[in-house]
Amino acid sequence: MKYARRCWAEVDLDALRENLAWIRVHAGPSVKIMTVVKADAYGHGLKQIASLLMQSGTDVFGVANLAEAEAIRSVGRGWPILMLGACLPDEVERAVRDGVMPTVSSLAEARRFSTVAKRLKRIARMHLKVDTGMGRLGAPPESVPDLLAQITRLPNLQVCGLYTHYSTVEDDARYSLRQGRGFQQVVEALLKAGRVFEYLHANNSGAVLLEPASNFNTIRPGLLVYGIAPPGTRPVLTALTRKLHPALSWKCRVSFVKAAPKGTPLSYGRTFVTPRRMKIATITAGYGDGYLRAGSNRARVLIRGVRCPVLGRITMDQMLVDVSRLPRVAAGDEVVLIGRQGRESIQAAEVADWCGTVPWEVLTNITYRVPRIYRGGQAA
Ligand SMILES: *Cc1c(COP(=O)(O)O)cnc(C)c1O
Repeated sequence: MKYARRCWAEVDLDALRENLAWIRVHAGPSVKIMTVVKADAYGHGLKQIASLLMQSGTDVFGVANLAEAEAIRSVGRGWPILMLGACLPDEVERAVRDGVMPTVSSLAEARRFSTVAKRLKRIARMHLKVDTGMGRLGAPPESVPDLLAQITRLPNLQVCGLYTHYSTVEDDARYSLRQGRGFQQVVEALLKAGRVFEYLHANNSGAVLLEPASNFNTIRPGLLVYGIAPPGTRPVLTALTRKLHPALSWKCRVSFVKAAPKGTPLSYGRTFVTPRRMKIATITAGYGDGYLRAGSNRARVLIRGVRCPVLGRITMDQMLVDVSRLPRVAAGDEVVLIGRQGRESIQAAEVADWCGTVPWEVLTNITYRVPRIYRGGQAA
């Protein structure tokens, strides 16, 4: 360590590489993997992660916007990129010029791409999205055969992908079955009519674990790639989750230790008052680093391998922790917010529970102030 760090994230690139390899084993060699790297690769750092995934054999990338696509291309060219969000009208030209595959849900969107692609003398490759019950993007299933026929007649456009998205796959087996069947019916009708798609896909991380029958020829895992199984109430029977390793650890330091007599109010709002004499550590992370304030009086952190409760409100740059059980704790000690320390570990999904949210938000919430430090990742 060249200079002292107060709050940082360590990203284990070898874990990421192995996670991707296990996902490939699980899905089988004929299934393409579209690694989803939106929102700065779920807070892990887009360029570093994209580069590692390129070396590790990802087939295609999924992004939320054109800036993310550009960041990927700045690292390496030649990988197909699907923009999962709808393209704004004034983004169409940039998408076509950059060769980013758009998600199209309507004839109006398809026409915009066709017109621009024709003017630029390019072929725009696009994915048609089917809304089987997510209610966000996509065309109604029953409209798809006609829509596809109309889109196919437009010049300078190629429909290379067809996809849908599950909304509650981790919790609702019946609704997911209905979504899966809805998409399957569309796919079968189109296959019968002789349509083939280079990319046919439905499965996010939860569905990779729970609905392997809808893997088709491409899967779209995000969270799994980073080594985290999506939480939910449906039992997961696959061995894959046991093979995955979280790539990200999040750490800070003890900056101050004091004894607080019984009756000492702690932090803003005095939401916690010491019920007895306690030893309190101030640690160097807060919501300004992305640790959600909703974890106040609920979260735990690891110090000297022991789970220590967060007391009082989490503030912008600091929080207070009960270290009464740790006789030797001292300023400078390392604190683990997410990750392993000794025999204990804290998962992003646990932090999410404490903060009343999901691991996706815990990760993408880690702010710019937190430097990402990379380990491993030598080319195989
Ligand atoms: C974010 C996203 C994914 C990846 O989701 P995970 O649950 O992280 O695997 C897949 N598909 C679409 C359309 C998405 O927006």
